[in-house]
Amino acid sequence: MLTVRKDAVVVGLGAFGSAALWRLATRGLNVAGIEQHGVGHDQGSSHGGTRLFRIACMEHPGLSPIAMKSLELWTSLSAETGETYVRQTGLLYVGNPDSKAITGPQAAGVPVELLTHAQVVERQPQYNVQPGQIGVWDPGAGICYPERNVRAHVAAAQRLGADVHTNTNVLAIEGTTVYTPTLAIEADQIVIAAGAGLRHFVPDLPLKHVPTPVNWFRPKDSFALEKFPAFVWDFSDEMGLWGHGSAEDYAVKIGAHPVDTVNVEDAVAQAFPSLDPIPFDVKPCHVTDSPDEQFLVGRLSEHVTVAGGDSGHGFKHCAGIGELLAQIATGEPTYCSTDFMNPHRFSGEPGRPPNRSAGLGA
Ligand SMILES: Cc1cc2nc3c(=O)[nH]c(=O)nc-3n(C[C@H](O)[C@H](O)[C@H](O)COP(=O)(O)OP(=O)(O)OC[C@H]3O[C@@H](n4cnc5c(N)ncnc54)[C@H](O)[C@@H]3O)c2cc1C
Repeated sequence: MLTVRKDAVVVGLGAFGSAALWRLATRGLNVAGIEQHGVGHDQGSSHGGTRLFRIACMEHPGLSPIAMKSLELWTSLSAETGETYVRQTGLLYVGNPDSKAITGPQAAGVPVELLTHAQVVERQPQYNVQPGQIGVWDPGAGICYPERNVRAHVAAAQRLGADVHTNTNVLAIEGTTVYTPTLAIEADQIVIAAGAGLRHFVPDLPLKHVPTPVNWFRPKDSFALEKFPAFVWDFSDEMGLWGHGSAEDYAVKIGAHPVDTVNVEDAVAQAFPSLDPIPFDVKPCHVTDSPDEQFLVGRLSEHVTVAGGDSGHGFKHCAGIGELLAQIATGEPTYCSTDFMNPHRFSGEPGRPPNRSAGLGA
């Protein structure tokens, strides 16, 4: 078996791994990335044309700086390539005043606009807004593009000299060596960003795979992106919805959660009575939940850093997380706090299942 030496090797070139490879390569390091499928494939968590991009993140106030870092990095990459990686059209959160969709973004520490019930009804006549529900407008939000952005990260890394091995399965990681069927790569630093496959390499992490489909609905004038911007809606205690209107080549996209208890057709019929509730296309996709629905990003050992547990809201953060992974792996100070994503935070509770299997994809 051929053995090569690298400063760093990244296992898995999906959202987090492709960005880590790019950010490591910008530091002038001799890096390699290994992906079991092609770049921008449709077998993991990062496909389906679009993802919501939010800055006022309801999941944790520590996430907003990471979304902003993604925006900064994607904007600079856009200037280099001429491609669009984020489209900022704003996003509407809707829910009861005490729901996470309303309190979370207001606590995110970035400018948002609070909307009354009447303002939501006036702005969004497509919605069957429930009595008492209000809105929060996140003006910097919009949509981003999983396959395009992943390919752009990898291409940027390759322009900087990174080696990329596609259709190459990592069989094992032992000490400082990563083994594929034909190659052993010895590296000072190993970044494992294998999505649902992270459990294979680090079985003690309490991660749960949640199949979460992507659903597309037939476009209609009143559901074009300009009139029906990206949204996250806590419709009731039992049901949430997220999605965005049709734009470019993309149809109306709507997901409902928890995926294991909510039927998306019933949810769309209730929430948007004027939209055909039967999806015309559905594709399987995958979420990896952590028990507290926050990511696991950090150092596991002297030579190994991980990123995973995406919990259905990771794509918007992936460029920012790639930068954090590069900083952690190289021992630089990080640009924001990563304590809430510490992969050791569940120590002592191996295998503890997530609190819910919502499969939020937003
Ligand atoms: C339906 C749906 C909607 C979503 N909507 C949003 C949204 O609107 N906004 C948002 O921010 N997020 C959203 N998400 C979440 C987001 O897509 C994920 O957080 C993100 O894609 C996770 O990236 P990842 O790098 O962890 O996983 P992946 O992108 O799956 O990357 C892991 C990679 O590792 C590779 N790999 C695994 N094992 C091996 C091995 N042994 N050898 C080599 N390679 C290996 C895999 O092939 C894969 O390419 C959504 C998710 C879903 C499913």
